[in-house]
Amino acid sequence: MRSLDDYSEIVGDEVLSTIYRKARRLTGKHVLHINATYQGGGVAEILGSVVVLMNDIGIDTGWRILFGTPDFFAITKKFHNALQGAPINLTEIKKRLYIRANEDFSVFTHIDHDCVIVHDPQPLPLIKYYTKRQPWIWRCHVDLSNSNSALWDFLKKFILRYDTMIISSEKYKRADLPVDQRIIHPAIDPLSPKNMKISERDITKYLKKFGIPRDKPLITQISRFDKWKDPEGVIQVFKLVRKKVDCRLVLCGSMAADDPEGWMIYEKVERKAKDLIENKDVILITSENSILVNALQRVSAVIIQKSTREGFGLTVTEALWKGTPVVTSNIGGIPLQVSDGENGFLVEARDKKGFAERIMQLLKNPKLAEKMGKKGKEIVRKNFLITRVISDYLDLLNDMIK
Ligand code: UDP
Repeated sequence: MRSLDDYSEIVGDEVLSTIYRKARRLTGKHVLHINATYQGGGVAEILGSVVVLMNDIGIDTGWRILFGTPDFFAITKKFHNALQGAPINLTEIKKRLYIRANEDFSVFTHIDHDCVIVHDPQPLPLIKYYTKRQPWIWRCHVDLSNSNSALWDFLKKFILRYDTMIISSEKYKRADLPVDQRIIHPAIDPLSPKNMKISERDITKYLKKFGIPRDKPLITQISRFDKWKDPEGVIQVFKLVRKKVDCRLVLCGSMAADDPEGWMIYEKVERKAKDLIENKDVILITSENSILVNALQRVSAVIIQKSTREGFGLTVTEALWKGTPVVTSNIGGIPLQVSDGENGFLVEARDKKGFAERIMQLLKNPKLAEKMGKKGKEIVRKNFLITRVISDYLDLLNDMIK
């Protein structure tokens, strides 16, 4: 099993020693994380590592998944979109279904932990259905700066019950919320299958397995098929690039269990890129495979992340860690990771020409790409590795658990 010791070569002994010190007072405490999926998306990715490492350092940390029907997930997906600014028809029936799933779950999910950390809107109402005997933290991973006001007002009633809300960026703080609000930037696990070093042999094997030739430079976006990730926009950008440089686009987007919109968006993309897909200049992948993601992030000439909203953007962090240059939207949490012209390029989210130009600049200038890649890796080492998230959570738990 993974242990904190394994990270010493990557982050240094001082980081480990600080973590052990912060954990001392918390030994044997019981902490519970609740979210809506074990697989797919950034939240599950981070929890998979945090939960294991917290147990390794002596904090009994559990992880439970809210049970939801397809109806429930269809509604919470709409909530997710509306929290990031999309319109919503917030009917009584939607509210009732949402609350009921939480109430039912509370009946058969017994909680006697020292602290409860609830992730994202799906399990947010749970707090109402327990006798609150411990601190409850709401960890919100989405961009709250443009939330639909009707939905926000509805959800706020639940958020007010929490002791603290954690967000991913200073920009998401809500002035109209009289609850303690703290920032924890997300991070990646450098030793997970998605981010660890892999051999050239494995890279070749996985690309072959998924039918991705390497005869042309690859441009890749790794992202769920989600409208905020703008896969259709990526196709348009690719068409502009391909007029000038022969290259290939891979859109790799596994389908998350709590994301019912994925196939609809996928089909739209498929229609838009029909000819390009037929001659294999565009390759769409929907399987969940961490080693493939790892390989793609290593071999691509450029990683693109053309989101129009992005809570943080772990796919950007992952690419930077592999020394691969990124061309990405100047949106949400991404500028926390990328300084324009330093370790990648930031482009206005809707500026397709701008995206295409920056991609071509990198394709034509491998030295620049390499220089940016190297800088990117060091920025991630310093700020966005999982050990820093562990350290931030320990600070929080030390404050919350008396
Ligand atoms: N991911 C993956 N396979 C895919 C698409 C995404 O493993 O086909 C992973 C990706 O590598 C990253 C996470 O899902 O670790 C996405 O996190 P991010 O913060 O970029 O976006 P979110 O999906 O949470 O909005």
